[in-house]
Amino acid sequence: MRTRAFLALPVMLLAVAVTPLAAAAWDPGVAALQVGLHTRGLYAGPIDGITGPATQKAIRKLQAHARIAVDGVVGPKTRRALGHFARHRLGQRPLHIGNAGWDVASLQFQLAEHGFPSGSFDGIFGPHIDAAVRRFQEYAGLKTDGVAGPATLKALGKPPAAIPLPLAWPLTVHVIGDRFGPRGERWHAGIDLPAPLGTPVYSARAGEVVWAGWRGDYGFLVTVAHGHGERSMYAHLSRMDVRVGVWIGAGVRVGLIGATGDATGPHLHFEVRVHGAAVDPLRALPSL
Ligand SMILES: [Zn+2]
Repeated sequence: MRTRAFLALPVMLLAVAVTPLAAAAWDPGVAALQVGLHTRGLYAGPIDGITGPATQKAIRKLQAHARIAVDGVVGPKTRRALGHFARHRLGQRPLHIGNAGWDVASLQFQLAEHGFPSGSFDGIFGPHIDAAVRRFQEYAGLKTDGVAGPATLKALGKPPAAIPLPLAWPLTVHVIGDRFGPRGERWHAGIDLPAPLGTPVYSARAGEVVWAGWRGDYGFLVTVAHGHGERSMYAHLSRMDVRVGVWIGAGVRVGLIGATGDATGPHLHFEVRVHGAAVDPLRALPSL
């Protein structure tokens, strides 16, 4: 077992300060703009909904190409410079499979913020967005027709899901890698906790094991249902120590750190869902 060599490594107790989360910093309109700039080949940065220097530079390039005032401000003329892509603002038409553009990109980002990501942010309403819309509609108690009309947009205007039950850290060593939120051209639906291969992973709260097996990009995954629609997920494990159907207490070892599935190195991808919506796990965990 390749994990053995790592088990002997001394455990380094590291703590990374958690900066307060500024969820409001992500602007779906800015994300849609970034998708438009990306489509035009003017922007290669992350689709993160934040107007940083790279986005500013891309806006100015677009304005220079369109021979309008190069001021970095996105007004009607700058939007028009994006052509067909920017024709519809979100809410101007019901969105469904086959639509594309600014409004679709904006919808896609809002769905992700609410815990229903749909692949790469590309502003194209395909099967992935259709599935995300239907899952969100089910979550919000709406008709699941895959059409993002006024009722769906209104529900997306509400804050993301509240977390009914607090959780404990699943590892004894708290190093936080990638956080919940935009990552590259996609949305990262959990937090990554890097740790040496073979490090024990503990259940964050008592509950019933509802999944213990391979699941695509998650690799070996354990999912524990805690009640009130809340579930915690432990992904990329090298070994699983629990079976589906068993009830476990908080702090029970569910498996060992690995890099199975879509993982570049050993870490725990820790995801928390509330009635199907992925929420920021840091909101459920004690602050460091
Ligand atoms: Zn991850």
